[in-house]
Amino acid sequence: MLRKTLIIGAGGVGNVVAFKCAMNIKSFGEITLASRTISKCDKIAYNIEQKLGIKIKTASVNADLVDELIKLFKRVKPDIVINVALPYQDLTIMDACIESGVNYLDTANYEHPDIAKFEYKEQWARDDAFKKAGIIGLLGSGFDPGVTNLFCAYAQKHYFDEIETIDILDCNDGDHGYPFATNFNPEINLREVSANGRYWENGKWIETKPMEIMQVWDYPEIGERDSYLLYHEEMESLVKHIKGLKRIRFFMTFSQNYLTHMRCLENVGMLGIDEIEYNGCKIIPIQFLKTLLPDPASLGERTKGKTNIGIYATGIKDGVKKSIYIYQVSDHEKCYSEVMSQAVSYTTGVPAMIGAKLILDKIWQGRGVFNIEEFDPDPFMEELNRQGLPWKIKEMD
Ligand code: NDP
Repeated sequence: MLRKTLIIGAGGVGNVVAFKCAMNIKSFGEITLASRTISKCDKIAYNIEQKLGIKIKTASVNADLVDELIKLFKRVKPDIVINVALPYQDLTIMDACIESGVNYLDTANYEHPDIAKFEYKEQWARDDAFKKAGIIGLLGSGFDPGVTNLFCAYAQKHYFDEIETIDILDCNDGDHGYPFATNFNPEINLREVSANGRYWENGKWIETKPMEIMQVWDYPEIGERDSYLLYHEEMESLVKHIKGLKRIRFFMTFSQNYLTHMRCLENVGMLGIDEIEYNGCKIIPIQFLKTLLPDPASLGERTKGKTNIGIYATGIKDGVKKSIYIYQVSDHEKCYSEVMSQAVSYTTGVPAMIGAKLILDKIWQGRGVFNIEEFDPDPFMEELNRQGLPWKIKEMD
């Protein structure tokens, strides 16, 4: 029977997922791209047909509404839903999948629109319902979370008897030429970056002020960059799944220019998530700011430079201390020439496609809700090399 795939969300990441699924049409079969604004889906479908000669279907949906999603699922009859809308829609899409018996995949964990906090609790709570429905819910199949989790699982499987520390290192050295813009959804990005930092050590979470800890890391093919400690969602599942772990931290690079703009916006209240009244209208400052900033999907054709995301792990093998660095370097212009999106969307969309492919091809099987590192990393790591995200390992004794 012909497989059917439904992608929800027609932003920068949705564009890459749609392109890459079309490039792997044998696994994905009939592809439908649905989003709130159907014209964005149609534009992506047009580009795919022009570039690849493959037709995909489009639909409009408000993914905040479970009933509307169920109606769409009845019509499309997907084998899997790839959720690359916003983290606010995770629970409604998961609930519609449970109701309709459809496999589910996302790249970012649930966030309540009114609370700047993200955690897996409510998604993990749906594990029994996914089991009863006989479906898989794959959480966090982007780059970070996603590939970084699998780098850790791969290190654990092949390089260590016990991993002691992990530092996840995320460097985007791209330049889009604008004074200020975010590389993915501005609201999600700025909420994440302006929040308190947090890392895990000896069984406890330690909270830091935003950007309080800075360390210079040397990124292969890029160079030394200031990197700031942030809380990032993959740490919540990795502390459960990597045995013997004593410490895990996450660092991301920011230029002084980005940080100055962000502090300034924060100081004048533009990052606020509470409603304010302006000239008789109710607005949420960070959502208003989003309308002023460049659309991340439009950055692709002007972004130059590279990204380097990886993990630096230390631990013990055969009684000897060792450390390894597993990383992936992408080039913004090369990504754009392939799928018309810059590297941040590319490095998220390709792993989303790969996770879905491994489920549809029945290489990853199971019932319930899983974080990606619970699956065998090997087939995923092989696909990364085949699908445009080749990775490297440096071993240091
Ligand atoms: P964009 O804002 O570019 O795109 C989001 C899309 O979702 C838009 O097309 C938007 O529609 C659509 N959407 C929003 N709300 C709804 C709704 N209620 N119903 C239907 N569609 C809706 O975001 P990105 O493409 O940059 O990011 C997509 C996801 O990827 C996010 O969840 C983000 O957190 C995640 N991400 C994960 C990363 C990882 O490595 N794991 C890295 C980067 C991003 P409209 O156009 O009408 O607004």
